[in-house]
Amino acid sequence: MRKIDLEALCAEKGLRITEQRRVIARVLSEAEDHPDVEEVHRRSSAIDAGISIATVYRTVRLFEEAGILERHDFGDGRSRYEASPETHHDHLIDVESGKVIEFVDEELELLQKRIAEKLGFRLVDHRMELYGVPLSRKD
Ligand SMILES: [Zn+2]
Repeated sequence: MRKIDLEALCAEKGLRITEQRRVIARVLSEAEDHPDVEEVHRRSSAIDAGISIATVYRTVRLFEEAGILERHDFGDGRSRYEASPETHHDHLIDVESGKVIEFVDEELELLQKRIAEKLGFRLVDHRMELYGVPLSRKD
């Protein structure tokens, strides 16, 4: 899924962008997966060895508070991050490998909207996480 350019959004939101924040923003914008803080730190410090894990923690919190970064909990107790996607998508988590698959299903979107309406609400947001094991798995 196409992700927001965090660096450009930082400027838009008036966040002071230091060189280290720029590197972390780029790592997050380019991530195809949903890395945790340690993984973001591993990738960022490969570009700039001076980036500490504390800086990564501070920066993801800052981005999250600015609403440009989404935090997920996919059931393994670790927070995972992704730049806010330009269009909505949901997640399927392979509980064996931890692999995260992104999907959009129009039928599901409509159904959730209908459920909210039936309960007297206009849906403004939702989170959907499916947890599964591959059908091809042999026991
Ligand atoms: Zn995602």
